[in-house]
Amino acid sequence: MARKFFIGGNWKCNGTLEEVKKIVTMLNEAEVPSENVVEVVVSPPFVFLPLVESLLRPDFQLAAQNCWVRKGGAFTGEISAEMLVNLGIPWVIIGHSERRSLLNESNEFVGDKVAYALSVGLKVIACIGETLQQRESGSTMAVVAAQTKAIADKVSNWANVVLAYEPVWAIGTGKVATPRQAQEVHLELRKWLHDSVGAEVAATTRIIYGGSVNGANCKELAAQPDIDGFLVGGASLKPEFVDIIRSLT
Ligand code: PEP
Repeated sequence: MARKFFIGGNWKCNGTLEEVKKIVTMLNEAEVPSENVVEVVVSPPFVFLPLVESLLRPDFQLAAQNCWVRKGGAFTGEISAEMLVNLGIPWVIIGHSERRSLLNESNEFVGDKVAYALSVGLKVIACIGETLQQRESGSTMAVVAAQTKAIADKVSNWANVVLAYEPVWAIGTGKVATPRQAQEVHLELRKWLHDSVGAEVAATTRIIYGGSVNGANCKELAAQPDIDGFLVGGASLKPEFVDIIRSLT
């Protein structure tokens, strides 16, 4: 089964009501390949999800940027996976490096979250990636394999998981991984999935790249055989996000 190209837009903690409406208008007016060719998922901050859901074109989908690790309840300030399902939000981003580093989310916690979100019917964009220090010390593969293992240990069905390889040193820095660097890790990750999870999961799971993707560098990255799309931060708030959605054309 071919892997459908996947474009995620992570708006992070950005936007006013007016700005959000402008971005949605820009997306709604864009001419992009059909949803049979490219799956587009945008991720506004929680508070804007219902508004964006009511305005966004039907061929684009929505993701939350996080959810609570278990069933909702007495967890002040958290948003449960069940609430996202209740609102009709199909996707959630889990394990973004900003949450791993700033909020101390461990590999195990991320694995638990992925498993819980899947168990209630959400689809998950699971983020992994090494720091600059880890890359320079030669431990990139060991780091991303450990992060992926913590997910694989808790998840038996990968059909609703997209794995986002996002080197921390490339996120929001303007320092994009070269197509060769990204392809190398994606291929290794696919081999890891093959050996540790199974051939079918390795062949069908989409591995997307994130880290300073923009309208100028997306085509060359998209041409790599093991890059199945992008998770885009900064550029997802700008008109060039449309060029990124069109990067296969
Ligand atoms: C991200 O936040 O997931 C990301 C990749 O950010 P940026 O595109 O801004 O580097």
